[in-house]
Amino acid sequence: MADPGRDFLDRAQAAVGDDGRLPLGAMAEWDVFPFEREGLRARPLTEYADPEPDRRKPEADCKTCAALDRPDLVLHTGDRLAVVRPGGTSLPFVANVVSRSHEPLDDLDDGGHVELGRLIGRTYAALRGLDGIGNVHVNKWENGTGHLSVTLLARPRGVLQLRGSNLAAWADLLPPTPAEELDARADRVRAALAAP
Ligand SMILES: [Zn+2]
Repeated sequence: MADPGRDFLDRAQAAVGDDGRLPLGAMAEWDVFPFEREGLRARPLTEYADPEPDRRKPEADCKTCAALDRPDLVLHTGDRLAVVRPGGTSLPFVANVVSRSHEPLDDLDDGGHVELGRLIGRTYAALRGLDGIGNVHVNKWENGTGHLSVTLLARPRGVLQLRGSNLAAWADLLPPTPAEELDARADRVRAALAAP
């Protein structure tokens, strides 16, 4: 029986070089890529996983569930979804549109999809409305626990080296943003999301 995932990995493995690794791609030349090409190498490809491990981890291990229990991290509470922020970040601000219960995006019904789209749009506008923000990037991850989380990352205005899909990688390198700055921005985002 055809197995598209295995075929995909077989094709990738056929492209590795003598060192057993894929060659670096064009991204290593981008001026927004955080690393220089010299000395950089791809990790070896790992084995095919069939079946995949369950993405859903217990609620007790879920940072999103923990954030939903902390009023200082909750920015908005909707019908089925909420907006929270992480306890800290190196960016000017990060917000997460999340499910109020421990569930992946796969479990949302159409009403949930409508609320998700509206909350992403409103949270985007709230972050764009903060002082000193050049752009806001939107990503769907699950933070390792299977809990729906659409992550909005705010890029500082004028810091063009951070723009685009590498913003999350840069965020791992940058120093933490002071908590009082994040608290003040959280108040403004909360107010923007509360507006009718
Ligand atoms: Zn959770």
